[in-house]
Amino acid sequence: MRVGIMGGTFDPIHLGHTGIAEAVRSALTLDGLWFLPAGDPPHKRCVASARDRLDMALCAAEAISGAQVSDIEIRRKGTTYTVDTLKALSEAHPHCEWVYIIGADTLRILSQWKDIREVAKRCIFAVVHRPGVDATQIELALRKLERECGVKAELVEAQGPDISSTEIRSRIARGQNIDRLISPRVAEMIRQRGLYLCAMGWEEIDETLRDTLKPDRYVHTLGVAQTAKALAPVYGIDPMRAYLAGLLHDCAKSMDKEEMKRRVANEVPDTDEAELSAPQVLHAPAGMLLAKERYGVQDAEILSAIRKHTLGGANMSPLEALIYVADFIEPNRKPFEGLERVRSLAERDIALAARECARLTSEYVRKSGGTPHDKTIQLINEC
Ligand code: ATP
Ligand code: MG
Repeated sequence: MRVGIMGGTFDPIHLGHTGIAEAVRSALTLDGLWFLPAGDPPHKRCVASARDRLDMALCAAEAISGAQVSDIEIRRKGTTYTVDTLKALSEAHPHCEWVYIIGADTLRILSQWKDIREVAKRCIFAVVHRPGVDATQIELALRKLERECGVKAELVEAQGPDISSTEIRSRIARGQNIDRLISPRVAEMIRQRGLYLCAMGWEEIDETLRDTLKPDRYVHTLGVAQTAKALAPVYGIDPMRAYLAGLLHDCAKSMDKEEMKRRVANEVPDTDEAELSAPQVLHAPAGMLLAKERYGVQDAEILSAIRKHTLGGANMSPLEALIYVADFIEPNRKPFEGLERVRSLAERDIALAARECARLTSEYVRKSGGTPHDKTIQLINEC
């Protein structure tokens, strides 16, 4: 029995993976086809969690008759190596012959796989053309791998489509369409779980926030994110985009004050002296810079929601208003006069709720002897 193994990080799985797997299965008349999401691969950092990558693979494989998904690597602790996977598979299925399916770009790093000679004893490789890899390079690479590592490989005359997970991740982060690159059901799973909205996965975002924010700030941050997510559907906003904006709204809170001021003055064009000399509001524009550079956020509206969450401003978009208001009303806020009114407004009219927050803020600033910023006044005066 010859079984094709389609391994990869599948971050996310796309029509290139499923397409080449099926092409090899029919070209080599394989008896089985297994998708094998990598656990923690040595050469790469994954964005989505192992669980999400496994679920996406299961979802994609469901649409391919006779295909299965193995979670053998996902279940293994620590860095996962193909050599260990093949040893375990051969022990569990001694009568199977393994055909490891790869795209031609993988040939460039195959000699670096751990114990490649041992891998080569346990499987043959089926290699598929991939855009960007020259056919003559493939021939040369195959000969070299055979000579130096004992790799046995068959070049299948199929051409993988011009699709990569990297391109898909970047399109999602920029809010672009991925319709023809990925199965609709996987796309829906990505949307529901809010995967790839920025360059960091949810687990890493959480770790980074825990490491960089004080504990009470972290708790407040979660409160804002959850409040924004819960209210988002009322205003037709994608809940996970709202959640991400909420999570990152205070991400610059622990940045050094001098650095914050210098960077905002140099890199954020719409700042004025009044804002630059108010340290308590500067983490908003600084947060926009950090969200872009550390977390890889490219969604302009998420960035501007972070940027505007302290002062507000004229003509705020629903997401901007939502983050501004969620910051005010999240459940960990100590009660203050007017809080319950804003909470109830937030459930039906986010623009009105934002105006009420601006009014309460400017009242508080005046009482403390300060002058409210023009942007806050503009928000109050909006009709
Ligand atoms: P990333 O951009 O994150 O590296 P990827 O699209 O290359 O993702 P992987 O999970 O790294 O996907 O790939 C797993 C295997 O599938 C590799 O052997 C790769 O060469 C092959 N592969 C992926 N996409 C294609 C494609 N469009 N054509 C041919 N082979 C592909
Ligand atoms: Mg790749």
